[in-house]
Amino acid sequence: MPPLDTNPKTTTAEADRRNHLHSQTNMRRHQQQGPLVIERGEGIHVIDEDGQSYMEGMSGLWCASLGFSNRRLASAAQRQLEVLPYYHTFNHRVPAVTARLAERISELTRMPGAKVFFACSGSEANDSMIKMAWAYHRAKGKPSKRKVIAHQKGFHGSTVMGASLSGLPNMHAAFGLPLDGIIHIECPHHYRNSHAGESETEFCARLVDALQQRIEAEGAHNIAAFISEPIMGAGGVIVPPAGYFAAVKELLARHDILMLADEIICGFGRTGQWFGHQTMGFTPDLMACAKSLSAGYQPISCVAVSGMVYAVLEKQSHELNGFGHGFTYSGHPVAAAVALEALDIYAEMNVPSHTQAMGHVLHQTLAPLLDHPLIGEIRGIGLVAGLELVEDKASRSSFPADLAIGGQVELAARRHGLIVRNMGDAIALAPPFIIESEQIKEMVARLRAALDDVYHAIGQRP
Ligand code: PLP
Repeated sequence: MPPLDTNPKTTTAEADRRNHLHSQTNMRRHQQQGPLVIERGEGIHVIDEDGQSYMEGMSGLWCASLGFSNRRLASAAQRQLEVLPYYHTFNHRVPAVTARLAERISELTRMPGAKVFFACSGSEANDSMIKMAWAYHRAKGKPSKRKVIAHQKGFHGSTVMGASLSGLPNMHAAFGLPLDGIIHIECPHHYRNSHAGESETEFCARLVDALQQRIEAEGAHNIAAFISEPIMGAGGVIVPPAGYFAAVKELLARHDILMLADEIICGFGRTGQWFGHQTMGFTPDLMACAKSLSAGYQPISCVAVSGMVYAVLEKQSHELNGFGHGFTYSGHPVAAAVALEALDIYAEMNVPSHTQAMGHVLHQTLAPLLDHPLIGEIRGIGLVAGLELVEDKASRSSFPADLAIGGQVELAARRHGLIVRNMGDAIALAPPFIIESEQIKEMVARLRAALDDVYHAIGQRP
């Protein structure tokens, strides 16, 4: 007689539905519809448990820059697991590979005298930057400098500080956030926020002027830092106008406010330069990176600290006999080994000129979609793009929210074998760097087919 099965096998989807509390997911809807279960990856594709293959137009969450089956990254992890699977960075210790990674990142940043701090996620890196900014000002005898300026529509993570910095109401609503002391300023999105007839230059000047007034109103002596993504990803792939960041940086420097770049999406090649701040023409005092750093194969993030800030922190940590910050897995050797290998591969691929060239193909291929009745704006640079869905092109009016038009496009794209991400009514693309021209054409053709499907479906609305 077969043994009594006291633990009857459930399907994977059922196991997930019963037991897994998902990130950034409507829990009730998840109970009804269940998960998309991805089983394996091959190049720029992921394959679900039914064998359906999808082009991953988003590199997962903007991170799998080398696709989903890179053997070199897997081997680097395997080798490091066999040599030294864990060690830490507290109290003067360091895994050899972590020191090498810090050296490589420091060289790449071209920030004079930069030192690199490690963490495991983008949120932790951003939290770390804020603590460093506070420490910097305290050390300089200005402890009242605590407030942080961030953009509406910026996204900086899900920890208490990361969510507070984020200018997205859905990150705050359930939790009574943001924390006090976060100043959200207007999003530098010309298409949505400019006045009628206002040029990009005028728009930029108005925003910088408003920032100046806000700094004066809050008191520069109360403001520690300004944080921004060079290109705002989760807010809808928003590219600020030319000259915006340079003007902001000049203003901040006059008020002794540190400029923090959240390079978690942009860093390591996404925008066609090593870092997004290079693309956007400014130099940060601190910058946070993650995602492409390890091509998403290991959870690792870092903060590059400029020599100017580092010198102050070093002196302070000596006076306090230690820098009271850091994580068990900071600079984890397996993650560091994978990141070093990813950086080797990027160097061999000639990132950033490769992402610049492929980005050119992407934007050229997307451009004709501007004629599609659903598309109001196409934006982005390098291998990141955003498409704004509008009900009426002339007035730029959005569809009623209950139509969830962005969600409809995302689902339709999936039916055509393409994964995109919708952030409200903006559709994002951030494909792996290894994507080829023909694949870009196929990806955009699938997106067009999805837009056509949704356009026809809403045309049949009563
Ligand atoms: N900052 C930016 C710009 C991001 O896009 C993200 C994640 O998507 C984060 C921070 C948070 O990173 P993590 O989810 O690794 O904490």
